[in-house]
This record gives sequence, structure tokens and C-alpha cells, in this order.
Amino acid sequence: MNVQTQIDATSPRTTEHFDVLIAGAGISGVGAAYHLTTQCPGTSFVALEAQKTFGGTWTTHRYPGIRSDSDLHTFGYRFKPWTSAPIASAAEILKYMGDVIEENDLAPHIRYQHTITSAKWSSAENLWTIEATRTDTGEKLRFTTNFFWMCQGYYRHTEGYTPEWKDMAKFKGRIVHPQKWPEDLDYKNKRVVVIGSGATAATLIPALAPDCAHVTMLQRSPTYFRTGRNAIEIAEELRKLQVDEKWIHEITRRKILFDQDAFTRKTFEEPEAAKKDLLSAVEAYLGKDYDIATHFTPKYRPWRQRIAFIPDGDLFQGIKSGKASVVTDEIDRFTEKGILLKSGKELEADIIVTATGFNLSANGDIEFAVDGKKLDFADTVTYRGMMFTGVPNLVWVFGYFRASWTLRVDLVADFVCRLLTHMKETGAKKVTPELRPEDHNMPLLPWIDPENFNPGYMMRGMHLLPKRGEKPEWQHNQDYWAEKDEFPSIDLKDKAFVYS
Ligand SMILES: Cc1cc2nc3c(=O)[nH]c(=O)nc-3n(C[C@H](O)[C@H](O)[C@H](O)COP(=O)(O)OP(=O)(O)OC[C@H]3O[C@@H](n4cnc5c(N)ncnc54)[C@H](O)[C@@H]3O)c2cc1C
Repeated sequence: MNVQTQIDATSPRTTEHFDVLIAGAGISGVGAAYHLTTQCPGTSFVALEAQKTFGGTWTTHRYPGIRSDSDLHTFGYRFKPWTSAPIASAAEILKYMGDVIEENDLAPHIRYQHTITSAKWSSAENLWTIEATRTDTGEKLRFTTNFFWMCQGYYRHTEGYTPEWKDMAKFKGRIVHPQKWPEDLDYKNKRVVVIGSGATAATLIPALAPDCAHVTMLQRSPTYFRTGRNAIEIAEELRKLQVDEKWIHEITRRKILFDQDAFTRKTFEEPEAAKKDLLSAVEAYLGKDYDIATHFTPKYRPWRQRIAFIPDGDLFQGIKSGKASVVTDEIDRFTEKGILLKSGKELEADIIVTATGFNLSANGDIEFAVDGKKLDFADTVTYRGMMFTGVPNLVWVFGYFRASWTLRVDLVADFVCRLLTHMKETGAKKVTPELRPEDHNMPLLPWIDPENFNPGYMMRGMHLLPKRGEKPEWQHNQDYWAEKDEFPSIDLKDKAFVYS
């Protein structure tokens, strides 16, 4: 580490320099730190994390039952075997990440309670100047870095998204967003309404059902779910044979990814058949008399929104037990006692949980500038969903939605480490993605095609995101199965990379 001291009258008074600076210590930031230590030994780096500890999503969300909605063999890193049931609690995921930090001595590289506020690139110095504020002391800090690795996720951690409904203030009970679950919230024997039908609602309902008087999932429209046993047969078999966990991890990942690929292709090629598969699994739990057409049959093609996995069908078991129910209707307004629906029915509640999603934050609420000019990411074009035209020495990790996020953490890390090594070997100090002459007339489109993938937070925030082009290199195609082969063969000498 090279510590420079600046004689400067204004705070911050010291500047620390690192070869690489990582924003965030969630699953992406910790993965980036691991790959830097193993693939680029000798590189100085620091990860600045706003929260008090690592984990990101798994630290922020503390609502009852909080768990993954995809399997941990693929949500876990490729380098660290996952040895338990595939759907895991936040606590188990944090334990796994903690082990990665400990086993690889990453702790000295992570600084907690450091919120990055601004990032300014100077081409004269070939450096990013990063300013951060300590959330415990308010102290302002300054860092410089050659390369900025943005692992700050995709949503604002400080508060979730709650729509403004009419008369919300009239409700006499408590309104809670799952992203800020109050520690003192007592839902025992209370009537709870959870607004929403995504993974969060589907996790909360079975967790609340045993203790509350009744829990209602209030949804405007249904969502697809996958369900089944919380176990992967091939992993169980291999474990019985006492196969090494490293092998089990690799083989199980391959099997899961093979099956997911087949299912994803089916949703595009035979959407009706894929829909039937999903709905019959729900029917197996709820029985033929349950109104699956109203409550569990979405209008969109499967995979246009993330499909959460419901382990052991616990959501459906809650409904079957009578402790939970689903209402598909629209909110007219809040009342003193609960929610008045457009159908005229009133849903009475003691607690209303707004599982209505996130506020997209493409840049971690960091103020960016390049050579003195304020940077708006929406004015840039993405290079494969990780770099941006006109923005030097910066990579953003944005994972997959149809496969586990972390698969892309590993792939992007391989690319970054290859790029850093290439720059070291060639003496380049700066790399900027730029449209090549043949790309200049390319039509520019929104970040993600809504026909392909269209969750609410994405639609609400699309105007904040970089543009995509019509060629694969200028898109974030959300296709792990293509990128796993394409990324390792990205030609670093391609004209899309401008070095100096
Ligand atoms: C409840 C929930 C369940 C999910 N389940 C799954 C799942 O099962 N499978 C799956 O693939 N995906 C899942 N996702 C998506 C999930 O967010 C990602 O998979 C993954 O955890 C994101 O990791 P990350 O490290 O990129 O970002 P985050 O987990 O969002 O972490 C980013 C970190 O950066 C920090 N940060 C942000 N801005 C700044 C700043 N300016 N300065 C300093 N630090 C900053 C934040 O405090 C945070 O700790 C889930 C999301 C949610 C909300």
C-alpha cells in the first residue's frame, strides 16, 4: 500500500492509493477481492463498504424467513463448495461468505462504514479520485485508484420502494417495508397483509403464517413460482458415495445449469408447455379445486420476470393450512382498518407489509465525473453489461436474473483480472470502451429488452441505465450459457478497447 500525504487545508487531508478499489462487500465485492488475490497477486486493493459488515443483500434484508430463491451451488462461488441444502437462509449465506473472507485473509482489505460519495476520473493523472464518508464518525476520506470495480449491486440499500396509495396515513396499524424490518415488530396473533407477489412475499408468507392470526398475500397480478424438494438428488447421491465436496460442487453446478438451460430454452421455444409444467407443480400442492387460474397464472411468458423457487412448497402449504390466503385485486385506498380493494371488499389488517420491491440504483448513489464533466450513465453504451463507453478503467458487476447472480461475479472477475494483466504487460494505464467506426450507426436501445425481462424496478429505472446496442458486445444479454464461452475469448485487442 502506498500512502501519500497531501498538504491541503480542507478535509480530507490524506489520500490513500490502491491499484484497484472495490465498491461494496456483498457477494460481488467479496468475490472480486478473492479473484484479485488469486489471479492478480501483488495488486494492492481495498473494498469500501457502507454497512457495518459484509453480505450486502443478505445483511440488509432481515425479515422473517429471509432466504435465497435460487440454489446455493450456483449462487455460491465456483471456487468454494456449497455443502448444505440448495435454498439457504441469509444466515447460512453470511456464514459461507465469512468463511471465504477468513480462508483467504480478505478482512484486512475491507473497510466497513465507508460510503463512497464521489468518483472522479482524471486523464491527466490516469486515476480515479474516490471520496468516502465514514458513517460512524462522519470523517471524509480520499482515495486514488487506477481501476474502479463497482460491486455495489443494483438497488438502494437505505430504503425500499413503496408506492403512494391514497389515504395511507389513515391506516391505524403499522406499515412495514421488508427492506427495513423493525426488530420489535410483533406479529403474533395479528392479521397481516403482505402486498406483493414476488420472491419476498413468497418467503414472508410461510414464515409469518404459523404465528400470526392470518396472513394475506395481496397481489395485483400473479407470479410464476418453481417448487420442489429443497435438495438436489445428484448431490445427495454423490455425498452417499463419499465423493469429495469439490467434485460434488462442480458436478452439481453442471447438472443444475444444464437443467436450467433446458428450461430457459423451453420458455422461449414452447412457452405454453413450460407454463403447464410450472402450474401443474402448484396444482400438486393446492389441489384441483383451488383457483390457480386467478391466483397463480400470470399473463406473461415464463421467465420475463424472475421465477422464485419455493422449497418444499411451503408457500402453498401455508395456503392449504388456512393460515395464509391469496387475494388478487387492486388497491383502491387505505382505510383506518386496512385496505379497500377496487372490487369493494375491505381487507382488515393490524400490519401491512409492502413487499413492493426496490429502488434501482445503477451507480451506488455515487456522483461520477470524467475529466471534470459530470457523468450520467444513461448517456453511455454498455460494453457487455460491465463497462461503459467514455468511462475509463471501470467495471460494474451486474449479475444474472435467469441464473444465479454470482455466476457472473466469477466470469466478470476473470475478465477484469485478464484485462489488468494485459494492461500491466503492455504498459497501458487507461482503457476506455468506445464504439468502433462500424458501430456508429447502430440503433441504441434501452439497457434490457422489456420483451425479454421486465420486472417493475427495472421498468421504473430503465431511464437511469446505460444504453445497449444491437450487437452482442454492446449488450447485457442475461445469457450465462452464451457468456461462459464468450467472456474467456473476448479479444482484449479489439478496437472497442481504446488504450493509452
Ligand atoms: C431478498 C433478496 C433475495 C435475493 N435472492 C437471490 C437469489 O437467491 N439468487 C440470486 O441470484 N440473486 C438473488 N437476489 C439478487 C441479489 O441482490 C444478488 O444476487 C446479490 O446478492 C447481489 O450481490 P452484490 O454484491 O452485487 O450486491 P448487494 O448484495 O446489493 O451488495 C452491494 C453492497 O454495496 C454496498 N454499497 C452500495 N453503494 C455503496 C457506496 N456508495 N459506498 C459503499 N458501499 C456501497 C451496499 O451497502 C452493499 O453491501 C436477491 C435479492 C434480494 C433483495
